[in-house]
Parts: sequence; C-alpha cells; structure tokens
Amino acid sequence: MSNRILVIGARGQIGTELTARLREIHGSDTVIASDLRDNEDEFTRSGPFEKLDVLNKEALAQLVDKQQITEVYLMAAMLSATAEKYPNKAWELNMNSLFHVLDLARDGKISKVFWPSSIAVFGPGTPKELTPQSTVMDPTTVYGISKLAGERWCEYYYRNFGVDVRSIRYPGLISYKTPPGGGTTDYAVDIFHQALSKGHYTSFLGPETTLPMMYMDDAIRATISIMERSEGDIAIRSSYNLAGISFSPEEITSEIRKHLPEFRIDYDPDFRQQIADSWPDSIDDSAARDDWGWKHQYGLEELVTEMLTNLRS
Ligand code: NAD
Repeated sequence: MSNRILVIGARGQIGTELTARLREIHGSDTVIASDLRDNEDEFTRSGPFEKLDVLNKEALAQLVDKQQITEVYLMAAMLSATAEKYPNKAWELNMNSLFHVLDLARDGKISKVFWPSSIAVFGPGTPKELTPQSTVMDPTTVYGISKLAGERWCEYYYRNFGVDVRSIRYPGLISYKTPPGGGTTDYAVDIFHQALSKGHYTSFLGPETTLPMMYMDDAIRATISIMERSEGDIAIRSSYNLAGISFSPEEITSEIRKHLPEFRIDYDPDFRQQIADSWPDSIDDSAARDDWGWKHQYGLEELVTEMLTNLRS
C-alpha cells in the first residue's frame, strides 16, 4: 500500500511548511493536515484537512483508520516560553500526544513516526560549545524536561516494540511564512518584521546570547530526509543533534544593517534570558551527517537575505 501521511499540528510554524513540502513530493491528497485550530482559510482549502485534538486518543485512532494513515508527523506541542506559564498543560500535551501516537505504532496501526525534540533537552551542565550527541542533559524548563522524557520513550518504544520512530533536536527555526509559536528563539523571526516595519527592535535576549538556529528550508529538508532513509541507517532512536548556524542578537543585527543601515536595536531581557542561558551555543551534529547524510545549506548571510527579500515582497 502506498504511504498516507498525517501531519498533527499542521497549522504551526513548522507544520505549515512541512505539509506544503510533503504535498509537493507525495501529492496533495496523500497528505492529511490536522490541527486543533480549524478556522477556514487558504491553508484548510489547500488540501485535505481534519480538525483533531491529539489529546483525544479515540478521535486520533478513528482519523488514522478512516484516512488509512501509514506515517505520522507529530508537530503539536507547547513551546518553551509558553510552557513555563502553563507547566501542567505543557506536560500533558507534550507527553500524551507522543504516547497516543507511539501506542498506535506499537499496535501496528501506523508504520513510521516523526517526532521533533529540541536543543532544550540540554541544560546548564551541558558543554556549551559544539554540544556532543551524548552528554550531560539537565534541562531546567518544563519544555526541555518533556522533550528529554519524550526522547527516552521514543528509544524505549523502538527497542521494546520495534516502533520505527525518528527524531531530530531542532535548533531555533526561522521562517518568513508562519509566525513562531511561543519559543525562546522567536526574537530571531520578530526582528525581521520589526526591522522592516519600524526600523527598530527591542530584543528580549541580551546582545551576546548565542544560540543554535536554522533556516526553515534546512529544517524541512532534514525532517523529510531522515524519514526517507531506510530503517537501518537510523542508528539513534532517541533524537539526533542537528546544526545549522549559531548567532547572537548583536550578530544578526550587524547582518541586517548591511541591508538596512538605519536599523537600531536595544535590549530588554525578560524571563526568556534565563532559558536561553541554559542552552548550548553550538551543536555537534556529526552523527546526523554520518548516519543519514545531513548537511545544512543556509549560513547567516543567506538567511538574512532570504528573510528580508521575502518579507519585503
Ligand atoms: P507551533 O506552536 O507553531 O505549532 C503547534 C501546532 O500544534 C499549532 O498549530 C497548534 O494549534 C497545534 N496544537 C496545539 N495543541 C494541539 C492539540 N491538542 N491537538 C492538535 N493540535 C494541537 O509549534 P512549531 O514551532 O511548529 O513546533 C512544532 C514542533 O517542533 C514542536 O514539537 C516543537 O516543540 C518542535 N520544535 C520547534 C522549534 C521551533 O523553533 N519552532 C524548535 C525546536 C523544536
């Protein structure tokens, strides 16, 4: 039987672009988008869409059955900054959504799962520069704790039930198409909008806060690439480190100024500074490069040019 794909949380920052790309590859009718938010718009009209609360296990099972789904991309989650405000809800959503999908795979209802982890699995005890694949993991946020627990459960389901689950630790993702969903790296998207509309941005992270980041096109390519590889290539069943570029607010500002010389930034760090300070500066992703051929394409210069050109038009 040919693949039928379900994207859960398809209206989010990543899901929107992932759904579009999967439809380009596999055809529109093969890729079912689903989300809690079901307001009708261009997105819901662009291909098959189903309203789904992933916390409703029965509804998820029915949808998988009705649409004869073979692969699931689980993108619904509560992100780092929002999760600090609603810790119980974040834990419930981030963990139960994963169990619901992994259980369906264990029971043979679907054959392959993609679930994203994050650089938030690391903490203050983790080496900050070129953070290794295997190292100290002592996350301080609810979000990071849920991602680390999720990673361990993915590996557990693989080892004990043979569930073919694949995962990437995304860095902060930057795109011009969809707004970010409440993470600590959101400044790196907002800064472009404000630079163009106001010529000024107040950063909620300090000037020298360096974090691992990636242009969305690279992240989508990595996601589809890890899912396309044969099962034997995927040696790590918790989650792969993935690196693109690393920069600070100060560095992205000087790159933006090459296009907009008048652009000004000031700094007013809030609670997100503490979260950012607990995360790595840069990531060693040699396991992803060796196992399934990962290579990023966008550097800071290309990313800034792409963002400004596309947002302008
Ligand atoms: P997002 O917040 O933009 O989108 C999440 C989507 O899930 C939203 O459209 C929301 O409506 C939907 N959703 C929420 N609760 C739901 C429920 N109960 N049932 C169904 N849908 C529900 O998030 P994103 O940035 O697209 O992130 C997707 C995944 O990637 C998450 O697991 C996130 O932790 C991970 N990630 C993202 C980044 C990033 O920079 N964006 C970085 C690291 C990891």
